[in-house]
This record gives sequence, C-alpha cells and structure tokens, in this order.
Amino acid sequence: MNTDRALFHPDYKPEPYWWEAARPGTQFSTDLPADTEIFVVGSGYSGLSAALELARAGRAVTVVDAQAFGEAASSRSGGGVSGGVNLGKGISGGPGQDAQAEALLTESAAAYDHVIALIEKEGIDCNLEQRGRFIGANAPKHLPGLVKKAEMLNRVLGVGATVVAKEDQRSEIGSDFYHGGVAIERAAKLHPALYYKGLLETCHAAGVSLTAHCEVTAIDGKVGGFKVQTAKSECRAEQVIIATNGYTGGLTPDLRKRLVPISSQIIVTEELPQDLADELIPKGRTISESARITSYYRLTPGNRRVMYGGRARFHHVDADVSAGLLHGMMTARWPQLKDARITHSWSGFVAMTTDSLPHIGLEKGMHYAAGCNGSGVAMMTYLGHQVARRILQDGKSDSGFANIDFPPVPVPLYNGNPWFLPIIGGYYRLRDKWERGNG
Ligand SMILES: Cc1cc2nc3c(=O)[nH]c(=O)nc-3n(C[C@H](O)[C@H](O)[C@H](O)COP(=O)(O)OP(=O)(O)OC[C@H]3O[C@@H](n4cnc5c(N)ncnc54)[C@H](O)[C@@H]3O)c2cc1C
Repeated sequence: MNTDRALFHPDYKPEPYWWEAARPGTQFSTDLPADTEIFVVGSGYSGLSAALELARAGRAVTVVDAQAFGEAASSRSGGGVSGGVNLGKGISGGPGQDAQAEALLTESAAAYDHVIALIEKEGIDCNLEQRGRFIGANAPKHLPGLVKKAEMLNRVLGVGATVVAKEDQRSEIGSDFYHGGVAIERAAKLHPALYYKGLLETCHAAGVSLTAHCEVTAIDGKVGGFKVQTAKSECRAEQVIIATNGYTGGLTPDLRKRLVPISSQIIVTEELPQDLADELIPKGRTISESARITSYYRLTPGNRRVMYGGRARFHHVDADVSAGLLHGMMTARWPQLKDARITHSWSGFVAMTTDSLPHIGLEKGMHYAAGCNGSGVAMMTYLGHQVARRILQDGKSDSGFANIDFPPVPVPLYNGNPWFLPIIGGYYRLRDKWERGNG
C-alpha cells in the first residue's frame, strides 16, 4: 500500500478510468449452446473481431469468456492506435531489412486502416481521434535511431513522420524531458472500453452467441469434431479459435510456451485546470518513448485529465503501489503535475513474444491469434479478422503473420510463469538510466 495518501484523490478507485463510461458486465450473455460451428475462447478485441467476420459470413459462432465481458486487456488499454509504428525489433529498418519484414510492416498499416474502417462502418462511438503520435528520445544517442526509423516508416508506409528537434519539442509536449523525437501523423487514440462495448453490441446484433463467466477447462477432438468443456456445460464445435492473448493458460500449453505475460499499469489524474491541460500535449497526440522500458501517455477524451501508462513493475502489483511509481514517472516528464492527484489506477496483462511480433497459427487444429506485444488495439482486431478469413478460406491465410516462425521462450522448462522478468527488467532499467545519463 502506498503511504503517500496526498497522491490520491478522495474519489480514487483501483480500477480502469474507462469503466466509468462502460463497465464490464454480462449484458447479452446467454446459456451455452450444445453445438456451434465455430467456438471462440476469449471475448477481447481479437475474439470478437473474429466472431463478427464469421457471423457476417453466415456461420454459427459462440464466444465465451472466463470473466465478465470487457474485464481483460481490451477494456484496460491506453487506447493508442498504431499501425506498424511499434512493430518489433525484427523490423527496425536496419541494413538487413528484407521483403518479408516490409510486407509485415505494410500489413500492420492495413491493421490501422482496418480498425478505423470498422469503427466508421459499424458506427462505434468511441472518441476516435486521428491526431498522431510523438515518440520522444530518452537519451541524445536515441535520436539518430528514431530518425532512421522515421525515414523507413515514411518510405514503406507513408506515415507522415517528421523529426522534431529538442528546441522545437514544446510544440509537441510541454516538457523538456526528451532529447527531441519523431512525430507520426498516422496514429490515433480512442476510448478502449467504448470501442469494446461497440464491438460487443455489433457482435450481438450480428447473431453471435455470447457467454460470460464461462471458463474453458479442456478441449478434445479435431477439426470438424471438437468437444469443449467449460465451467458451465459442454459444447461441440467444428472449429475452435483461441483468443486468450495475455491471459493464455494451460488450455493451450504450446501457445503458452511462446508467450510472456507482462503486467502493464496505468493511472489517470483528476481534471486539471484548462490552461495547465492545454500546455501538456498541444496537438492532442499520444506519446511514447525510445527507452527499452517505455511509458505511453495521452489526454483522456475532453482533454482535461492525463492518462499515464508504463511498466512500473513487470509482475502484477497492487494498484496503490503502481500508482505511486507511475506518478513519479509522470512528474519526471511533467514536473508541473506534481500536485495532480490520481483518481484511477489499474493494470492488465499483455503478451510479449521473443521476436516482438504478433502471430496467428494453429495448435492441435485450433486457430489462434496472439502476441500483441503491448500494441493490440488495431493489431488484435485485425488478426482476429484474419483468423476468421483463414477459416472461411478453408485454412488458407492471406496474412504474413501466419507464415513466420513462432519460437518458444528460450528458458528451460518455461511454462508461462515469467519468473525471470524482474531480472531482465532490472537490467533494462539500468541500461536506460545509464544511456540517459551518458548521452
Ligand atoms: C494496461 C494496458 C495498456 C495497453 N495499452 C495499449 C495501447 O495504448 N494501445 C494498444 O494498441 N494496445 C494496448 N494494450 C494492448 C491491448 O489492450 C491488447 O493487445 C488487446 O486488448 C488484446 O486483445 P485480445 O482480444 O487479444 O485479448 P484480451 O482482451 O486480453 O482478451 C483475452 C480474453 O481471454 C479470456 N480467457 C483466457 N483464458 C480463457 C479460458 N480458458 N476460457 C475462457 N476465456 C478465457 C480472458 O478472460 C480475456 O477476456 C494495452 C494493454 C494493457 C493491459
């Protein structure tokens, strides 16, 4: 428990700010059918997106979730929408840049277009604002790498990236913390829980069967004849989609060996005086950084509160503890927020992969989409759609994310418990600090 109570607003809640507008629940939840064509495990963006595509194609689809609808990462995120900007270290624009890497980058840009088009087509009211992103250089030596990345993103994706010198930085952010950076026009932000709610409502309207608080405990059989056991009852299905991402458990042990669940934490401040809020992010962009352990932040809809996210700790910690740590990180960037009190603090799990790329694939005949690497609003929506297309095309995938190796985590006997994270995280933190202090 953080003892500095002055940090906390009297209305403080250890839960997502987004839930004030759209709380997780069981609306549309129905009894589990005995039979379905396609059974989807997990009702986040990827599961719902897959289900929508399949239902629209006339298939009988059932989605279940172990929790309430909207309780996991999809309604806990920062709501930053990017298309390729965050793609992994394999696609950094270095000399070895090859055709496959460029194809994946291009597909990531397609993921951005896909989510924007989906929101517009379905009329989902989720405070979508296409205002771009600023990526700050945490150390002077990081800027050349960002410039190189900006050139590559412009060449391959035409994202409208421009270099921002340190002396011009205040046009992007009311802070002198960074050593310049890069502004990318082709990025957006949205209200993640309202986007989730809209997607859930759209699935319901399209005829998807939805069951909450229904953990899947075992799946047997093969394509055409799966038997799915859940905490409620049993269901027979022709095809199964695993859409469990950062919450993947022992149901799919092979997939679990390939994913590292990492806790990501967020705080939101009380409403700030208008003039103070106005100077923080003048262009209303989302902010991220060049450091290994990065923060991501933005203003919430209405532009009066700051939402600040980062890896205060790599494992799950009490929301009161991460709140204090994140407040310290936020005020290092914006000292003018030292008196801003926290109204909400929460965390959720993202799924990292060893190649920093998301993947779609098959385990024992079951389709999956996984590995958002902390950036899944656009990507997991898109990959859910791609998994559905694969089923509709009798197993043929148009996505490059289906054709890349998906290596297991190279730790002997790894089974989904990332005991090594505090060690790696501590090392990264030290390197970030050293580089910042040594140019
Ligand atoms: C704090 C935080 C901040 C983030 N910020 C951003 C951001 O700014 N921008 C961005 O693009 N991305 C962000 N992300 C990542 C993004 O939220 C995720 O990539 C995305 O929501 C993943 O969606 P999903 O459908 O794959 O998984 P999830 O939304 O995690 O859904 C998986 C579901 O599977 C269910 N499940 C697991 N096992 C079972 C089982 N056995 N039976 C039934 N159900 C099961 C879980 O209950 C869960 O509901 C953030 C994530 C977090 C946690």
